[in-house]
Amino acid sequence: MQPSTMDAIAVPAGGGSPAVTTMERPTPGPEEALVRVLRVGIDGTDHEILAGEHGAPPAGADRLVLGHEAVGVVEDANAPGLTPGTLVVPMVRRPPPSGSNQFFERGEPDMAPSGAYVERGIVGAHGYCSSYFTSPAEYLVELPESLAEYGFLVEPASITEKALEHALTTRSAFEWEPESALVLGNGSLGLLSTAMIAQRCDRVYCLGRRDRPDPTIDIIERLGATYIDSRETALGEIPSAHEPMDLVYEATGYAPHAFETIEALAPNGVGALVGVPGDHAFEIDGGALHRALVMENKALVGSVNSGRHHFERAIETQSSLPEWLFDALVTTVAPVESFADAFVDTDETIKTAIEFETP
Ligand code: NAP
Ligand code: BGC
Ligand code: ZN
Repeated sequence: MQPSTMDAIAVPAGGGSPAVTTMERPTPGPEEALVRVLRVGIDGTDHEILAGEHGAPPAGADRLVLGHEAVGVVEDANAPGLTPGTLVVPMVRRPPPSGSNQFFERGEPDMAPSGAYVERGIVGAHGYCSSYFTSPAEYLVELPESLAEYGFLVEPASITEKALEHALTTRSAFEWEPESALVLGNGSLGLLSTAMIAQRCDRVYCLGRRDRPDPTIDIIERLGATYIDSRETALGEIPSAHEPMDLVYEATGYAPHAFETIEALAPNGVGALVGVPGDHAFEIDGGALHRALVMENKALVGSVNSGRHHFERAIETQSSLPEWLFDALVTTVAPVESFADAFVDTDETIKTAIEFETP
């Protein structure tokens, strides 16, 4: 007989330290699968939740079960189209408590405005940091056995797939082939995106603010990309110090970068912004930036979350990336008993995960 309770890792409403808590093991409803969790990735958003800057528990709850980057195994399919033993990655957004809406009905949860969704492990719904979770089958994406170990990277990779799709679509009205690309941020999302963009662009740069030796700079260079230190070269100086960029992918969450991206772009270039800054007031020359956008046909696109086809593409992309990258990127896999190690953030830490069951 299976125990009726399970471990989960939760944070108090308003932020604080994560702690293990005992919860009822969930029972799947009609058309819902029960998934056994293997690993859950931790990212900048989780740290923002701990700091009380983002996210909220489900209505009426005093804590939020963390975790939105998971990989697990279907334990009880309970729905057509799924088989027990299948490896799956869950999507993040679900309809709000008030019910479904046009965005979910169209299969575009990532385009729903705030209030029209909840996000598991982030806002309004418990996440996947528990031994089991349930989910309607429509939000589970099947993945090959080869991705069991690092399948928790599919969700962040899907964020980049969506942002790139939206950015590149803005350039589809004319002949445009991006050759140079700049990724802002050498956190886990920035590095994963550098690898993904290096598959599409000849010359890729990645911006950080670290001294050598540094493991993130090692990854950037092993990918064949060029490291740029933001303390030495401002974004506006990058076109003369290196080259103007056809594509900029912002993953620092440092608000001035959203605007300085315009200065780093080549004529006809596009910047994709995914960082989520807190409030941050600063001065800019709005006229110069506005003029550059218009007179040089530049575009800036904000992008959040991802839909099912972005997950599917991320699975294909991840399958094509070298294994050494994942080994280098994932610096900590903490067993659930020492989950706190996954929240330690040092210069040696890049991507961390909590392991509930060995893949
Ligand atoms: P992260 O680990 O905090 O990475 C941010 C990186 O940017 C850090 O490595 C940091 O360097 C670097 N950085 C910050 N300011 C910088 C500056 N002025 N110059 C150079 N480098 C700078 O976060 P993440 O998990 O990779 O995510 C990146 C951002 O994307 C976050 O804002 C996160 O909230 C957001 N995000 C958005 C979505 C979406 O759907 N839009 C999805 C996932 C994540 P140090 O480490 O040296 O401080
Ligand atoms: C998650 C997205 C989510 C976003 C905003 C990110 O870390 O990966 O799925 O939409 O945060 O909450
Ligand atoms: Zn995330």
